[in-house]
Amino acid sequence: MTAYIAFGSNVGDSAELVKSALKELGNLEEITVPAVSEFIKTKPLGEVDQPQFLNAVAKVETSIGAEKLLKCTQQIERLLGRERHQKWGPRTIDIDILLYGDEIVDTPKLTVPHSQMHLRSFVLTPMCEIGVEVVHPVLRQPMSVLAKRLGGGDFYIDKNKPQLISIAGIIGVGKTTLGQGLSKALGCGLICEAYDDNPYMDAAYAGKQDIALDWQLYFLISRLKQISKDHLESGGLYISDYVFDKEQIYANKVLTSEQQKVYQEDYARVEPKIADPVLAIYLKDTPAACLERIKKRNRAYEQQIEVGQLEGYFDDYEKLFAKWNKCPAITLDVEKFNCLDEKDVCRLADETRSYVWTS
Ligand code: ATP
Ligand code: CA
Ligand code: CA
Repeated sequence: MTAYIAFGSNVGDSAELVKSALKELGNLEEITVPAVSEFIKTKPLGEVDQPQFLNAVAKVETSIGAEKLLKCTQQIERLLGRERHQKWGPRTIDIDILLYGDEIVDTPKLTVPHSQMHLRSFVLTPMCEIGVEVVHPVLRQPMSVLAKRLGGGDFYIDKNKPQLISIAGIIGVGKTTLGQGLSKALGCGLICEAYDDNPYMDAAYAGKQDIALDWQLYFLISRLKQISKDHLESGGLYISDYVFDKEQIYANKVLTSEQQKVYQEDYARVEPKIADPVLAIYLKDTPAACLERIKKRNRAYEQQIEVGQLEGYFDDYEKLFAKWNKCPAITLDVEKFNCLDEKDVCRLADETRSYVWTS
């Protein structure tokens, strides 16, 4: 069986400790270690103030079972002076079993795949070095895809936050449709952008520059009513069919620089009150295909939209998600993902469960 094992250390001579652990592991009769990633330095995860970590991942070939492998790694931890005090606290050596073939184990002592590996770049970056095509048996995605979702960040599931999943993408891409399907599959509420309430919609789309500021401020207040930290329960699961960060994309496009000055002051007051999503879903399709959908749904004020405008927004969303690191982000290409196909949506719902806290 091929297994992948993660090492971490932030007490003592960490590089020597990881090397010793690798050596001890390789010395065991039923285990060989054909590949080891580079050792990387990482910031500690969680609230504990502690030195930075050294992390690495090794590929292991073994004939022993997963439970027995855990016994071996725990013995090596003890040998190298590991003491267990504090959850996610400092340690001479931590050895976690990430994957054991494509087996799924869930016992009180052992969870494989490791329950947090898909949230940690300090695991997935080294994994990509030595097993980029290895598929996570629960998420059913290769390491390359899982790593990209994190944008280099390390995350953990915090059940004290509202579990807000925000769907992002340009007009006409199908955010609301996906939100409806996903909220049904997950059995949670859907928060829909309240564009119908906005009294400035028609005039704004008709190009009346003088009301553009009111138009955008109205949206800002509407977001505050819908997704501020005060409005969402900690631990509650929600989906929004927009991502708050789009406000800046739109404001930059539609406001004059004079209007921007006023807007940005209000924005700075609103932004800290908004709940950050714990998961973003970025839905992508070509601007031309989105324009087709816009024509079909035939909302009066949207009918003047031209493909060039959509291309501009598309580029802005691409830029936003190229540097996104607030939370994990799942990118979906409409070419390979159909919002109306229950199978696709259920599969996505299964994946999202690994990124959010559900009671
Ligand atoms: P994390 O698991 O979030 O990385 P940690 O490594 O600091 O946290 P430990 O204190 O080392 O947590 O381990 C707690 C328990 O986790 C161990 O006693 C072990 O039985 C259990 N465990 C469950 N799954 C695994 C796994 N895949 N690899 C190692 N230990 C595991
Ligand atoms: Ca660990
Ligand atoms: Ca551990």
